[in-house]
Amino acid sequence: MCADDIGSALRALKHLNIQHSIFRMCAKVSAMELKATKCFLIVSIREPDEHLKQAVRNWLVANIPDWKDFQIAGAAKYLGGFLGHNAPALTFQGPTEKFLARVDELSSSQAPSLGTILRYNERVASVFSYVAQVTEHPDPKNFKSLEQRGVHKVLKLPPNCMSRQLMHSCEPFLLKAPVAITSMCKAAMYRFARAESEFLTQLKAEVLGLLGEEQSVAGASLVRVPFGGLPFTPILESLLEALRIKGTFAPFEPLVKSCHDLSWVLCPSQPLPPSLGGKVQGKIYECFSRSERCVDFAQAMSRKLVVTLGDEVSRSLRVPADWVSALLEVLRNVRPHTASCVFKSLIGGWTTSARMHEHTRLPCIFGCREQPDEINHYFLCSPLWQIASQSLQIEAPLGLAQRLCTERPTPDSARLLALVFSLYHFAKSRAKELGGATSVGPNAVQKIDLRPPVL
Ligand SMILES: [Zn+2]
Repeated sequence: MCADDIGSALRALKHLNIQHSIFRMCAKVSAMELKATKCFLIVSIREPDEHLKQAVRNWLVANIPDWKDFQIAGAAKYLGGFLGHNAPALTFQGPTEKFLARVDELSSSQAPSLGTILRYNERVASVFSYVAQVTEHPDPKNFKSLEQRGVHKVLKLPPNCMSRQLMHSCEPFLLKAPVAITSMCKAAMYRFARAESEFLTQLKAEVLGLLGEEQSVAGASLVRVPFGGLPFTPILESLLEALRIKGTFAPFEPLVKSCHDLSWVLCPSQPLPPSLGGKVQGKIYECFSRSERCVDFAQAMSRKLVVTLGDEVSRSLRVPADWVSALLEVLRNVRPHTASCVFKSLIGGWTTSARMHEHTRLPCIFGCREQPDEINHYFLCSPLWQIASQSLQIEAPLGLAQRLCTERPTPDSARLLALVFSLYHFAKSRAKELGGATSVGPNAVQKIDLRPPVL
């Protein structure tokens, strides 16, 4: 029971008679009647077909006519989550739709990367927090793909520019990384389980006590709560697994053990240390999300750069071993937007027609003859670098490594690369507005007002 929502598990329909007499008495005392059409009978043992539903309805008509209008279903919503067949998928369906709608909304805003990530963490990723307290996503792999698509879309990046680990580790460049949703959901469930640990343990003891000798051998051997024939872990069992870092939480155990200040996690019955200040979820998230981040960020960036440039170009490009840390040091002296454009260039985040697999493969939109609309060309494209170089009054380096800021980076070379990135995307979208991407060429580009964005 929670607020005015009441739910109960029935072993047989005849037990509804007891409930009916209680509700009849309540109606007399409070003058409040149960609205039968708003009540659900969930059949768990198998998905109810029309025949089974009719049989249950016939029983209601014969035995409790007051309740003949109860809805008979395979699943129904209770306190924001679904119970019954396919319950985890149904529970996540609503938040998933909300996630997609908010991703769409955020992707159409013109905010810079940092603002977008902050907004994403606050308004988009958080849509799963409520249901995640008691339900785990039924398809973790799909859930991660959904997240990856969402993050790329809001950051206006071509699909899969970042691996899932890189996506959760990009704060050295972007100042903030998108929240790791799986870890966030697990941390939300842990926090809820920890807050209710005493009650949950007691509830399980009561459930097993009630079952008594009717517990099946399989169930008894596992000392698990049975779940009416449904093929997934019961909510109570999931919460207890979270509390003990078992089941789907077991992979986090080594991480928890490696954090010296998380010893309280392995002692669920002990009170929380006062130094924690109630920040259970934040601490757990910090620990769990390490499993979703790059082990070696610099190495991941180098690997990504090879993919961006392709085998041939990357083989001929020499970069110092510590190029990532040297670049990050330089980026501390430029605006966050500049750093994000540099990052997006290094990870191949240019939405060229080649990268976006567009139907019409464009030539260089700045008019180079027989050069494709591809990132490798733009790193060398003379008209583009000339426009950028004139705008900033900085001479463009000739070598690719310096243009990419992987060799001897300076705030100026970072600004230049960022401006080249911005000019391309600005020119392409303006050119589309001026009469379709296919007509883009040197003439169309000359018509565009290329006042550079402030970098
Ligand atoms: Zn060109």
